[in-house]
Amino acid sequence: MLRVIVTIIFLTIVSLNSSSSPGMKTSSAMLFLSSGAPRYYSFFNVLCDDKIYSLDFLACATRIGESIQGRDINIFEIGSGPVKILFIGGLHTGREDNTRLLAGEILSYFLGKPNEVQSAITLYILPNANPDGAANKTHNNSRGVDLNRNWPTQNWRSDPYHPSYGRVDGAGGASALSEPETKSLYNFILEKRPSIIFSWHSRAGIVEGNDIGFASELAEVYARAAQYTQIYEWPYYEVTGAFGNAMEEAGIPAVDIELSTYKNTEFKKNLKGVNAVLNHISQGSRQ
Ligand SMILES: [Zn+2]
Repeated sequence: MLRVIVTIIFLTIVSLNSSSSPGMKTSSAMLFLSSGAPRYYSFFNVLCDDKIYSLDFLACATRIGESIQGRDINIFEIGSGPVKILFIGGLHTGREDNTRLLAGEILSYFLGKPNEVQSAITLYILPNANPDGAANKTHNNSRGVDLNRNWPTQNWRSDPYHPSYGRVDGAGGASALSEPETKSLYNFILEKRPSIIFSWHSRAGIVEGNDIGFASELAEVYARAAQYTQIYEWPYYEVTGAFGNAMEEAGIPAVDIELSTYKNTEFKKNLKGVNAVLNHISQGSRQ
């Protein structure tokens, strides 16, 4: 029934706007009409300004780009406060796919309770940063690039170290930001300049902030609430071209969170962490 109503709305809006909305993506709408697959609907631009409207989550999303294999990369947005907080899931997939699932659960939670996002905050969630990897069940993207080794840092290299395989030629990409997945996210970040960015990985059970602003302070807040261990330096091997370091060089606070296992989303622990961060920032913004 919902689909019928949506289809009618769509056809009405198209008929009203087809000549005035050159950016409309009728192809994705046609996919919906022909296959019924849930997709993203730019005809809801009417409701979401320049954003896309997702029937998957009933939320406004920004399509920041697409993967090598053509899958959409969408960032969802809840709230409209001045302090922008971005959470990223699924930068690594394969065995780390629980971070993508966790981000989806956190997103669903706040879409159901949007009032829990304080008025000071805009909450951005990118649940699926490596959609090809998620679809193909691989750790890296579809051409074998590790999306946490492809960022513009002084120590970027094309053959990053992997704890199981040693140096892997090409796993850092042909150059920093050579991959559409990293490039589109980097552009979004530089445009929005979030106050803080969290990215989920697995599995070390640790939280590590970079050296900018209140990253370390918020890493402590998150770690305490979620009961992970805060660390200050990744102790195991040199990580090159990493997201957190690139944010540091761009002057943006960023925190890596490692879940404890590959198996579970550890949703309750991480919801406590997210809520603790939101509360901490919201209280700080009132002082
Ligand atoms: Zn990872």
